Amino acid sequence: MQPSPLDTQIQFIKGAGPDRAALLSRLDIRTAQDLLWRLPRDILDLTQVVSVRDLKVDELATVRGEVVEADGRPLKHGRTLTAALFRCETDFVRGLWFNQPWMRRKLPVGSHWLISGKPKLSQRRFEFSHPRLQLLNPDDIDARGEILTRYGLTEGLKLDEYKRVVRNTLDEFSEFIVDPLPSSILDEWKLPHLRDAIRMLHFPLTVEDYERGTSRVIFDDLLQFEVGVFLRRRVWDRTCQATPISLTPKIDQRIRRLFPFELTNGQNRAIGEIASDLSRPVAMHRLLQADVGSGKTVIAIYGMLMAIAAKQQTVLMAPTEILAWQHWNTLDSMLAHSQVKRTLLTGNISRGERQAALAGIASGEIQLIVGTQAVIQESVRYQNLGLVVIDEQHKFGVLQRSRFASEDRTPHVLVMTATPIPRSLCLTQYGDLSLSLITEKPPGRQLVVTSRVTTPQEQRDMWTFLQRQMATGRQLYVICPLIEDNGNGNLGSVEQVYEKLTRDQLANYRVGILHGRMERDEQKEVMNQFRQGKLQALISTTVIEVGVDVANATLMLIMDAQRFGLSQLHQLRGRISRGRHKGYCFLHSSIDTEEAQARLEVLERCPDGFSVSEEDFKLRGPGDILGTRQHGQLPLEVADLTRDAKILELARARAEEVVSSRLIDSPEWAPFKLMVLNRFEKLMDLPQTG
Ligand code: ADP
Ligand code: MG
Repeated sequence: MQPSPLDTQIQFIKGAGPDRAALLSRLDIRTAQDLLWRLPRDILDLTQVVSVRDLKVDELATVRGEVVEADGRPLKHGRTLTAALFRCETDFVRGLWFNQPWMRRKLPVGSHWLISGKPKLSQRRFEFSHPRLQLLNPDDIDARGEILTRYGLTEGLKLDEYKRVVRNTLDEFSEFIVDPLPSSILDEWKLPHLRDAIRMLHFPLTVEDYERGTSRVIFDDLLQFEVGVFLRRRVWDRTCQATPISLTPKIDQRIRRLFPFELTNGQNRAIGEIASDLSRPVAMHRLLQADVGSGKTVIAIYGMLMAIAAKQQTVLMAPTEILAWQHWNTLDSMLAHSQVKRTLLTGNISRGERQAALAGIASGEIQLIVGTQAVIQESVRYQNLGLVVIDEQHKFGVLQRSRFASEDRTPHVLVMTATPIPRSLCLTQYGDLSLSLITEKPPGRQLVVTSRVTTPQEQRDMWTFLQRQMATGRQLYVICPLIEDNGNGNLGSVEQVYEKLTRDQLANYRVGILHGRMERDEQKEVMNQFRQGKLQALISTTVIEVGVDVANATLMLIMDAQRFGLSQLHQLRGRISRGRHKGYCFLHSSIDTEEAQARLEVLERCPDGFSVSEEDFKLRGPGDILGTRQHGQLPLEVADLTRDAKILELARARAEEVVSSRLIDSPEWAPFKLMVLNRFEKLMDLPQTG
């Protein structure tokens, strides 16, 4: 790219110099461009000038006044106090400055000022301590206060100094700001020119100015990102040829006959979307997002049977052994009377079974495979893989699509997740996936009642309740954050809790224990006994977190709940909303800091995963929700997804429009496209020819 004057190092800018440049570099500001594109943290609206009568204690306001008296006097310990009395029409206010003796000289009697701040009331007079002052010309009758932009700063750097550098940079460099968007588009989309936007956001005259300016810069950031996403999808569409899988009414009927219930509208809609994708010669890449218990498995099965009917192989990949094994049971019994050749493939089957499975998969004889990540190991060669379904993808991290691709064919991919990803995140993180969303549950589902228990009394009440429920036949999960005691003694480990409960509250019940360090066969055996009702309670780690389905288990106690993430807690309680009976989830936590309690309260308040994750997102920001640290931070410069969700949706719609209409390939758009390619080429694997 051409070097631009905007790349000028900050120390060469008037008012900066090496010392301030060093401070600015702590804020990651190194060039003129860095400074200009850095958004204010917030603004103070001081435009409304009010009269003294309308002042309220501690409420930010601006008044206009004339200095009638000013004096400075020393206090104890070498401190000084400067005080000024201002006449505001018929009233008076006082201004106070500590340790700023020079203020005395700045305030000659007779000068006119706008005085902004949060006043206090002292001896029935409003007093502003260190107010913001703006000198007025006495004739300037209808002077307005300013919109004060404020920035995140670092120690040793004052707001006024920072703004002076911004001002100088604007004066010197704004003429070099080139708008990458075609001017016809600026008109059509009603956007300010980038140069004006940047000036307005640093020195706005009105709140609207400020918003127009910042929105433009945020919009550009997101538009570039989203155009990148759609360009990548275009490449994917061109290069990822897949075998079309079609659906006939007959196949549809045959598949539906296998389900012992009517599908919900949401399920039918998702199936329609998937079937339509599958019928195309381009690989499907779709995310199915639905809260726990919405019936995602059925949709996976439907797609898989479509693939088999089209003589393609299909694989379902689950994040854990237990879940793979459960899916296998579901499918295996559903297909008991069918000809479909199928196998379970996990890291845990015998050598012989494994050899047979690999041979059958390679020859194409085996059509349906259920497994863990073992299904993507190198030794597994597919003959004609048509559809891959990945359950709970967030557990796997980023999907390696190439794992499944052969030279000339890519399988269709369906990713399923119950992790309720806030919409704004979903659009970006999974930006190149099409989205099927199910928001309803099968009929008759009950919400889970969730309550926190902290005090000993609450715990006693809870146990009375649980025992009464268990007497009527319901089963209980007790979830612990750890397997064994980690030595500090306070935390509930599976072993410790098992010991304690089987001696105490659960002494007369059949209790099992389950965690990931047990032998696989042992795990299965315990799960089986629980499923069959031979065990009444199961003390477990989060191995049961995803997908385990025991309809009669409607009770859950989560120990040290504050140790889990909110979305994870929601997943956990999803295990007890499976059947006809109401579920009851108790969140035990010994820590009652306000923050911990506020988090757990979200679960009491929000019944569904979407609202939980929105709240979680607000409390924590997007970073943790998907473990974005693993996934790589979202590559955004000024946008903030918690704040800018609306602009994101707009940018996404515009990006889709611009790419699908091929406008993006026109000469007018070349500068913008070049920016996108330069910025995202590596990250999104975009060819420079786009
Ligand atoms: P998810 O994976 O979305 O959490 P599952 O696929 O495990 O949910 O389904 C949860 C339960 O709901 C299962 O027992 C399943 O048999 C049942 N189910 C799914 N779809 C329906 C439906 N349309 N009507 C009634 N029950 C359903
Ligand atoms: Mg599931």
